[in-house]
Amino acid sequence: MSFSALGLQPDLLRAVARQGYTEPTPVQREAIPLVLGGRDLMAGAQTGTGKTAAFVLPLLQILAARPSHDRRVRALVLAPTRELAIQVEESVRTYSGGRARSTAIYGGVGFGGQVGALRRGAEIVVATPGRLLDHARQGTIDLRAVEILVLDEADRMLDMGFIRDIRQVLALLPDRRQNLLFSATFSREIRSLAEGLLDRPASVQVTPENTAVDLVEQIVHPVDRERKRELLTHLVRTRQIDQALVFTRTKHGANRLAEQLTNDGIAAAAIHGNKSQSQRVRALADFKSGRILLLVATEVAARGLDIEALPHVVNFELPMVPSDYVHRIGRTGRAGITGTAVSLVCVDEAPLMREIQRLLGAPITSQVVAGFEPNRDIRPEPIRLRTGQHGGPRRNAPAHRSGPGDRNRPRFGNNTSRNRRPRRATNSFSR
Ligand code: AMP
Repeated sequence: MSFSALGLQPDLLRAVARQGYTEPTPVQREAIPLVLGGRDLMAGAQTGTGKTAAFVLPLLQILAARPSHDRRVRALVLAPTRELAIQVEESVRTYSGGRARSTAIYGGVGFGGQVGALRRGAEIVVATPGRLLDHARQGTIDLRAVEILVLDEADRMLDMGFIRDIRQVLALLPDRRQNLLFSATFSREIRSLAEGLLDRPASVQVTPENTAVDLVEQIVHPVDRERKRELLTHLVRTRQIDQALVFTRTKHGANRLAEQLTNDGIAAAAIHGNKSQSQRVRALADFKSGRILLLVATEVAARGLDIEALPHVVNFELPMVPSDYVHRIGRTGRAGITGTAVSLVCVDEAPLMREIQRLLGAPITSQVVAGFEPNRDIRPEPIRLRTGQHGGPRRNAPAHRSGPGDRNRPRFGNNTSRNRRPRRATNSFSR
């Protein structure tokens, strides 16, 4: 199927062609005609499925079809992080050929530039909820003319504790509007938000087979807690990993690891919420240019980072929430590129690994690296997440359980999945 069959106007078709997209992804195929038809939408789609274009393209077409001389905001996209907000707004610019008046609104930077952009009249605003509310309270944004609302990565926004902010934003919008909700997962909380928000929504569900996960070769290297960095250095030196986005659980852990890797002679940098915007931009630019081999990031900082053709993701530490594993590995295996997700897993993380495999519905290949065989005498310890400035567990993160039952169970060294082939599929977008 081609994009033209979806009812998009020629200028948008040209924009899509300029990006080199030959056919719509499944979520685009299903969502675009529904949104163009004016329906409210509940879409289950994660990063890597092409979800951004699935709402940006029809949104642009709808606004262009109903020209307005009102200089107030007509479309509002809420996103969990500033990185995602920036990237969605970049997509708006890309697909509109720079014709739409759009701006991104997010925290961590001064108000001045954003107030200026809003005053000049932004038709499309992509915002994180907290900073948007700050503008609303200061009277620097008027949301009473919003025609289309998009909640992007709604599950992440709830995970990050934005539910009250979202509800406050909703109270500032006019009743009559079109609502689109995108989420990778559908918890009870998301469904209850959707119930109050969406009017007889159409629903689109991109099945897991159609997502980035299947393009990602996943592998677990069991290793001792204290030898993870040494193993990572070994994998880089032996060229088993070239450039990679490396995940740690905490900001402190990201900083420490980046420093240690640098001391080992490996070009690395950390990217997380405590870094200034300019530090993050520089780290990302260095990574994209290849000056940095390993970009060490926390969960939140990495959300929405659009790094083209990222070959490897390394889970230096497993996430506490299984769905975060899927989000993390969605950083690679994008748009038809096969990627690898390498997880360095110590004995403390065995229960987390089991939960992840349960979520995926399939085991992940486990392979001990010669010279890094786990010491079987090491007992599991509870995973401690520092709090305060070093970053702590997210509000909804379940507590890690490491009961006595885990101690006697065989661990990854003799994992039953050891000899299986990695999960890998042919093509995510052609189905
Ligand atoms: P998203 O899920 O919106 O984060 O998109 C993931 C990646 O897929 C982005 O890098 C897009 O540029 C790319 N993409 C989006 N739509 C298509 C398409 N129809 N064909 C190929 N790549 C696409």
